Amino acid sequence: MSAIANKTTLLKKHFGFDTFRPNQEAIVNDLLAKKDLLAIMPTGGGKSLCFQLPALMMQGTAIVVSPLIALMKDQVDALQANGISAAFYNSSQSASLQNEVIEQLYNQKIKLLYVAPESLNLLLPNLKEEHICLFAIDEAHCISAWGHDFRPAYTQLGKLKKQFPKIPVAAFTATADVATQDDIAQQLQIPSAKKHLASFDRKNLFLEVRPGTQRLPQILKFLKNKKEESGIIYCLSRKNTEKIAQKLVEKGFEAQAYHAGLSSEKRSEIQDDFVNDRTPIIVATIAFGMGIDKSNVRWVIHYNMPKNIEGYYQEIGRSGRDGLPSNTLLFYSFADVIQLRQFTEDSPNQEFQLAKLDRMQQYSEALSCRRIALLNYFGEHVAEDCGNCDNCKTPPQFFDGTILAQKICSAVYRLKEQEPINMVVDVLRGSKNAQVFSKAYQKIKTYGVAKDVAWLDVQQYVIQLINQGVLEIRFHEKGRLLLTPLAKEILFNGKKVKLATLQTKVKSVAKETVN
Ligand code: ADP
Ligand code: ZN
Repeated sequence: MSAIANKTTLLKKHFGFDTFRPNQEAIVNDLLAKKDLLAIMPTGGGKSLCFQLPALMMQGTAIVVSPLIALMKDQVDALQANGISAAFYNSSQSASLQNEVIEQLYNQKIKLLYVAPESLNLLLPNLKEEHICLFAIDEAHCISAWGHDFRPAYTQLGKLKKQFPKIPVAAFTATADVATQDDIAQQLQIPSAKKHLASFDRKNLFLEVRPGTQRLPQILKFLKNKKEESGIIYCLSRKNTEKIAQKLVEKGFEAQAYHAGLSSEKRSEIQDDFVNDRTPIIVATIAFGMGIDKSNVRWVIHYNMPKNIEGYYQEIGRSGRDGLPSNTLLFYSFADVIQLRQFTEDSPNQEFQLAKLDRMQQYSEALSCRRIALLNYFGEHVAEDCGNCDNCKTPPQFFDGTILAQKICSAVYRLKEQEPINMVVDVLRGSKNAQVFSKAYQKIKTYGVAKDVAWLDVQQYVIQLINQGVLEIRFHEKGRLLLTPLAKEILFNGKKVKLATLQTKVKSVAKETVN
């Protein structure tokens, strides 16, 4: 049987599918060719199959590193139900059970072995190259302190490539910004891994952000005619989940609060009622949603601002999995920003968390297409307005900002893409501060070309350009600004840029600058 026939036959036989999803086949092919890779695919995109299928076709066992010990047994059971031999290896097992698993591995009795990163130290010395066909790293963003869910146990995964240079390593994640993507490859010691970036676009989700004033009345209005629809309201505090759930119940909605302070029985009961359409509305902390497979969630509201874009995107992504139009609404308030800043205070990687919070805030304040801002954050360079976000539906007033954008891009270019927003703004405005002089930036050609625009306004325009995907922040490198391919279009090919008019008299000021 040819390899191709074999592949589709196995796809049908073990998984019941006739065709591959986008990217799946290319990833499978890379693994069959023993190439390292980094796959960024949205939740539900079908990552598991990408390593399960090659495991069936290759000699040896696929070692799958996964942080979710609680889900391992289910994953293994599901595989076995599909006629695929699998096992797991983690700290929930006795030593003798662990030894049995290793015995099975030696005897080539299992095609997939799920292992917790903490248990890898114990397993690795027992592994030999001839036993293994590939390493799959699930939730690979956990390896990076720049990611949003850093787990120290992941940092030892670089050992895999070191110990087994010939075995392909495939890293999978549903959530990694551009900087984190590069860091993952670096740390896993697969710097030349091919990137498979599946589209993150969820066109059916309407994206909306509103000022966080009078939130409850706004929610009640939002929910008018939505009594039967399933939805989730995310809050920062447990107290708020209960308060809001109670208010909704008083207004005749069926709603339940969900947070980590409830007993696990209570939590699974609530979850069950939600999944089976008995309770349409859940008011929850971010503890809710992981591993919940419900296709008809029609809306997600963020009562409070999430702490980063990764979290926000995952949470709104729980709506509209069936592809039908769904609404997402984020309430943005500066008080939340301050509280979230405080939360980072004891964190070992506070710097990254604050930078991510800044990006979240910039997204919330975006005046251009929100989808463009989101997708660019994950490395997907799109330029076309989506037509399905608040800013596309009711755009702010725009002016032709091409010349101002060229000036900004040119400054970034002349600063050799080494400086953060504030310095770029200082140079554009011709600021006479010591930092500028110490680096002799007053000699740069773009020094002072936007001196007629207020400092905060220039900053706002720079942020607009970031949100439009013209500039990119490398926040793990002191927040330096970089030009994207779009910036080069603007600088060298005369591509036009629309900038949103800022409040008050900025429009005339901006015009002056442009002329
Ligand atoms: P992820 O791990 O990326 O969140 P999963 O691997 O759990 O996603 O897959 C999500 C869902 O998509 C599963 O129900 C799976 O059975 C289904 N799926 C995966 N690949 C295909 C395919 N080629 N055709 C149809 N459904 C698929
Ligand atoms: Zn849009």
